[in-house]
Amino acid sequence: MAETLLKVENLKKYFPIKAGVFQRTVGYVKAVDDVSFELKEGETLGFVGESGCGKSTTGRTILRLLDKTDGSVYFEGKDIFKLSRKELRSIRPKMQIIFQDPYSSLNPRMTVGEIIGEALVDHGIVSKGEVKDRVLEAIEMCGLAPYHIRRYPHEFSGGQRQRIGIARALVLNPKFIVCDEPVSALDVSIQSQIVNLLCDLQQKFGFSYMFISHDLSVVKHISHRVGVMYLGSLVELADKHELYKNPLHPYTKALLSAVPIPDPTLKRERIILQGDIPSPANPPSGCKFHTRCPYKKDICSQEIPKFRDVGGGHFVACHLV
Ligand code: SF4
Repeated sequence: MAETLLKVENLKKYFPIKAGVFQRTVGYVKAVDDVSFELKEGETLGFVGESGCGKSTTGRTILRLLDKTDGSVYFEGKDIFKLSRKELRSIRPKMQIIFQDPYSSLNPRMTVGEIIGEALVDHGIVSKGEVKDRVLEAIEMCGLAPYHIRRYPHEFSGGQRQRIGIARALVLNPKFIVCDEPVSALDVSIQSQIVNLLCDLQQKFGFSYMFISHDLSVVKHISHRVGVMYLGSLVELADKHELYKNPLHPYTKALLSAVPIPDPTLKRERIILQGDIPSPANPPSGCKFHTRCPYKKDICSQEIPKFRDVGGGHFVACHLV
């Protein structure tokens, strides 16, 4: 049984809403609202949900790129929000992120070699003389050619730029990588190459991934377990085979009903959700999904359903389950 690498407990991230001449706080956008989960070494945990549901904010708060409002994040047993600046800096190389848009995350004035080697130099991981060798090793592992280190980001295609982004994370020898919609901006044929590259690197180095995407097919392919988020909260989390075969939460059922089946003879009943996703600044009372749920009962608007294990590590937050 693999060790737990990351433990997230009741994590909250609220953004204040300011108004008026004096910019007083008049409310909060509850982007991440009481999220708890664990991630094992070498595991990929997929996060799905509509855009604005808090997936990316969860990933960035876990990496302490954003301050938390409440809760705890333990990485290798240490609460990262209790680390000093120096301690955080020493742990940074182990926790990396791959962004959705590789172009805007790459400095256009730096060569690929400088971009990938920058953090190596900054963290003093290797001596200056060894930087080039480490960079070359990383770009070759990511399917790029040695001469690419002298090129600039604008000379590459979207897929190649994403490979540069992966090499930049890989060169630091990380343990945990937040993949924040890493293939959403790419063509479908390129998407599979990048997903396969991430899988190969995981097999080779035992990385743990938090893989964020709104594409359920991609998430199913790469993940071991999958969590479904709605309006800042996890509503279901389970082994991927269990979740796709036996979804329990009405929101997960609706999301899965929209995934195309690659067999024209098979038909699936599509569940169309009524209404728009409510504002995270003013979420509905009780179960946040009750304004769109076809099965809602009186209790649903009054009590928040607990996110609990209903057997075999299948977590769900619904009064009817
Ligand atoms: Fe629907 Fe009620 Fe379950 Fe929420 S708790 S998902 S409203 S049945």
